[in-house]
Amino acid sequence: MTFLPDHLADLYDSTQVLVAAYDCFDRLRYANPAFRAAFVLGPGEELTWAEIMRRNHAARRGTIITAADFDAWLVSTLSRRGKVPYRSFETDLYDGRWLLMTESVSAAGWMLCIASDITALKADGRDVRQARDRAIREAQTDDLTGIANRRFITARVDDMLAPGALGGTLCVLDLDNFKYINDLVGHLAGDTVLRDFAARINGLIRRKDCFGRVGGEEFVLVLPQTSPEEAVLIVERMLSVVRQSRPLPQWPDFAYTFSAGIATGGPGTTFSDLFGRADRALYMAKMSGRNRIQVDGEAPPAVMAARG
Ligand code: GH3
Ligand code: MG
Ligand code: MG
Repeated sequence: MTFLPDHLADLYDSTQVLVAAYDCFDRLRYANPAFRAAFVLGPGEELTWAEIMRRNHAARRGTIITAADFDAWLVSTLSRRGKVPYRSFETDLYDGRWLLMTESVSAAGWMLCIASDITALKADGRDVRQARDRAIREAQTDDLTGIANRRFITARVDDMLAPGALGGTLCVLDLDNFKYINDLVGHLAGDTVLRDFAARINGLIRRKDCFGRVGGEEFVLVLPQTSPEEAVLIVERMLSVVRQSRPLPQWPDFAYTFSAGIATGGPGTTFSDLFGRADRALYMAKMSGRNRIQVDGEAPPAVMAARG
């Protein structure tokens, strides 16, 4: 007698539907043969989603990516990938197929990706649907950096604080002395610094986290189900990466820093309460010397506070 799991395994092996599962670090942990064939993956290969996209783009295989700058596309897409429990979208492959792709994210942060070939469906309305998808994407994206914008990040904070959600930590990250930086290197180079910051932080977050630009040189990091202690470790690592960045080739010694305010809340906390507490912590981080992290409710270090 054969059991359901054996039949399921046979079905996954033989179906032309693409099936894949990614872990919470966005590494491919399962893909059926149809998925591996579409995305040029050897049997058992476990790349991250970003690595799969890069390899396929270079080989002109897999998903057609029309963006002129692949790295910018990757930063932008990663900043919105896997942040909601379910989404579906249409995608074109270089092999001529047109897929309906769905992404389901579990509470543990794993993602199930299922894609069906819809090439044969009537193409009517396709342009309209693609235009709508583009419009949704643009409405959620910050123009300058390509990461999530205030609207998208606000919705993720609301998700984190919704009844039944598990709460988490919000961090406001603000570049230090940015007005001075603009005066020193010019506004265009200032923009390059903002893009460097966005790309670096975006590369350090877990998939369930969300990072977005909410104002000029002010960014928000949403860390669901994360304690303030864990958040401090995460942001400390970001601080050390950013301190070492030298984003301006014309100013090889130029370095920059940021300050962070951190606050935690659960269901029942309002967005404005959480954001207000993180913002006040940020203000204390600035007042006590910048280039540091301040947790809401904790005292700033005395020596630094004296520096004012
Ligand atoms: P602090 O360390 O206290 O945060 O000081 P700051 O100079 O960073 O803060 P302040 O709020 O005084 O100045 C922010 C500056 O950011 C002023 C503004 O010109 C600049 N800015 C805002 N948006 C942009 C942008 O899109 N590009 C560039 N290059 N600069 C921007
Ligand atoms: Mg600033
Ligand atoms: Mg600011």
